[in-house]
Amino acid sequence: MIPYGRQSISDADIEAVVNILKSDWLTQGPTVPAFEKAVAERCGAKHAVAVNSATSALEIACQALGLGPGKRLWTVPNTFVASANCGARCGATIDFVDITPDTHNLCVDSLAQKLASAQISNELPDIVVPVHFAGHSCDMEAIATLAKKYKFKVIEDAAHAIGGTHADRHVGACQWSDITVFSFHPVKIITAAEGGMALTNNPDLAYDMELRRSHGITKAPLRLHKPDAEPWHYEQHMLGANYRLTDIHAALALSQLTRIDNFLSRRREIVNAYNEAFAGMNTISTPVERPGTQSAWHLYVIEVNAETDKRRSLFDHFRSKNLGVQIHYIPVHLQPYYRELGFNEGDFPIAETYAGRAISLPIFPAMSNDDVAQVIEIVKSACDDLN
Ligand SMILES: *Cc1c(COP(=O)(O)O)cnc(C)c1O
Repeated sequence: MIPYGRQSISDADIEAVVNILKSDWLTQGPTVPAFEKAVAERCGAKHAVAVNSATSALEIACQALGLGPGKRLWTVPNTFVASANCGARCGATIDFVDITPDTHNLCVDSLAQKLASAQISNELPDIVVPVHFAGHSCDMEAIATLAKKYKFKVIEDAAHAIGGTHADRHVGACQWSDITVFSFHPVKIITAAEGGMALTNNPDLAYDMELRRSHGITKAPLRLHKPDAEPWHYEQHMLGANYRLTDIHAALALSQLTRIDNFLSRRREIVNAYNEAFAGMNTISTPVERPGTQSAWHLYVIEVNAETDKRRSLFDHFRSKNLGVQIHYIPVHLQPYYRELGFNEGDFPIAETYAGRAISLPIFPAMSNDDVAQVIEIVKSACDDLN
């Protein structure tokens, strides 16, 4: 089976992990801060807070921005459930904004319309979470303009997008957002096995998130309430969790980060090969990259230009040929948990239509040229047969 995505682990990665196992600190040592610094510097953000997953990062980001019961978080249906769950776990009310058909990212026109009516009904969101689907940045300037006008905060869910750029800025620079979140799950661009990170240019948000990932506890002398504190003294200032990343995981990800440019360029090579092979086919559409944006190409999604039953037969056919194709994503609002909150079919028609047509093809840096050729051959012959 050629999976839709998988990690690339080198001898250097293994050595980096083994070195931590032989060192003094398995967790809370020097490697987590070194990893944070390296990512922040690469992306051009001032602060980075590493945690044990992007899911945890989204949650502490929401908490740091004051989300709670009685508040509202909006995101898109075309995402992994974590982009919405972070708000629900804070007790906030969740709503969605439909996507745009070209990039499958948040549709800025839909957002503007929904904001205008929410203003009238007094239901404006407190936080909007745009998702950089497949690694392609959302239209962040336009979202930031709306954020200013309607006074909401922005968390970029960039789980797919480390290494991507937009308007000459690295995704993660937080030029048009309050916080950006990365994932280091094995299918993502670089991996820590499990891990995530929240980046921000706001020192207060960074400090708040640092506390929240570790029980709400601080030992920083200048932050303590107690004057002339004893050397063993620590204080809990808020209700946090244990969302810490370990030095073992950070060492793996830090080692991976040294190869990120190779990973990105190999992904782009595969995209170019697919695009060239599928150009001019009328049965499927290939993904787009808008001018001024460089996708990190976490996913390569084709859309089947036919009824949903054809998508199903193509999917089954690809699986029978040992292609580990996937669907990204089942619209979040149609999950039983969200249906129970009142969402239904037809609420976000563009995301739903797209979800009925999408198939994610294998794309990951360790794919050989033979693998790529095999995928192309299987896809072309099956799609030509649809005619
Ligand atoms: C993978 C993913 C997450 C969650 O990442 P974890 O590190 O597995 O918690 C969140 N949002 C999106 C869009 C993702 O793809």
